[in-house]
Amino acid sequence: MVDLGRWTRAARAGLGSDVAHGAVVPPIYLSSNYTFHSPDHPRDYDYSRAGNPTRDVLADALADLEGGAGATVVATGMAAVTLIVEAFVPVGGRVVMAHDAYGGTWRLFTMLAAAGRLELDVADLTREPSRAEALSRPAALVWVETPSNPLLRITDIAAVAAAAHANGALVAVDNTFSSPLRQQPLDLGADLVIHSTTKFINGHSDVVGGVAIARAGEQAERLALWANALGLTGSAFDSYLVLRGLRTLDARLRVHEENAHAVAELAAAHPAVRAVHYPGLPGHPDHDLALRQMSGFGAIVSLDLVRGRPAVDRFLDGLQVFHLAESLGGVESLVCHPMTMTHASMSPEAHAAAGITEGLLRLSVGIESQDDVIAVIREALDRAR
Ligand code: PLP
Repeated sequence: MVDLGRWTRAARAGLGSDVAHGAVVPPIYLSSNYTFHSPDHPRDYDYSRAGNPTRDVLADALADLEGGAGATVVATGMAAVTLIVEAFVPVGGRVVMAHDAYGGTWRLFTMLAAAGRLELDVADLTREPSRAEALSRPAALVWVETPSNPLLRITDIAAVAAAAHANGALVAVDNTFSSPLRQQPLDLGADLVIHSTTKFINGHSDVVGGVAIARAGEQAERLALWANALGLTGSAFDSYLVLRGLRTLDARLRVHEENAHAVAELAAAHPAVRAVHYPGLPGHPDHDLALRQMSGFGAIVSLDLVRGRPAVDRFLDGLQVFHLAESLGGVESLVCHPMTMTHASMSPEAHAAAGITEGLLRLSVGIESQDDVIAVIREALDRAR
């Protein structure tokens, strides 16, 4: 019996599971409810907020790929963050959050802290002494995002997990930028993983979705219970689309990464660029850690332009192939200006602390022809000089 690898399991998730007609591709169950055999005898499913067969195929596939005991598929990536807070952080509990987490995550945790729901410490978890300081006191939850959005900083998951566990904290990792095919936080000691499946896992920019995965069975059950109670679960149709996207994740990632690497190398040698943030470049401050912790470097490349905001405008003026838009991880190339777009909800002080400058652009490099991608970025950088 062949022990099938992750890439094969991603491509084949749920295939052949249909018991009614032997459909190769699992069908979509759109029904909101299911008949009971009799008042005391429900079937496997009763109501689609609580459980849905199509959603379960996706959840099982993602739990398997991350090496978790179970997964709960929810409506958005932010719903996955919310779910983890509600399921695992008691009222007034202390949360340590990475200082350059996605702007929406930053907004949610700071709003919850302002409302008195939790106590928040924001810290640079990539460096000492700030990491040791932040993790030296008891906490309910440590929130890690690696690589981080938009600066592609790398956090040592195993080191954070060891320090956090010593103080009784659970560790959640936002694995959106890597996908389960490039980084396995649970194997590195994390307790929980979330994804915005909106991004690479779906990969076609036509679904907003999320998932939360737990290493331990008891915690996985808690996620399912709270998602149903809070009403956060994802739709059957979205689950079907995300499952379809998941099948090509490995093939897409390989082309994404080849193109992203070429863009990063081009930008690193261009005079219009002050800094390139891409963990695959040997000059990245945590390249060695990325090599140890990840099996690929992903498709997000951020560029800090020497001439700041005016250069950003010149870069974008007439840019081909790359759409100016907020998301990432789709087959199409996208560019975003984090300060005014994805990370606009952060305060100027938080921008400064995280290193988000006026000249920073985040590229989500798609799977178009590498020659075309390189040619349009070269032209744009020449304009931005
Ligand atoms: N985590 C990361 C790293 C993200 O980039 C995003 C969205 O951009 C989210 C979480 C939130 O996901 P969603 O937009 O699906 O709610």
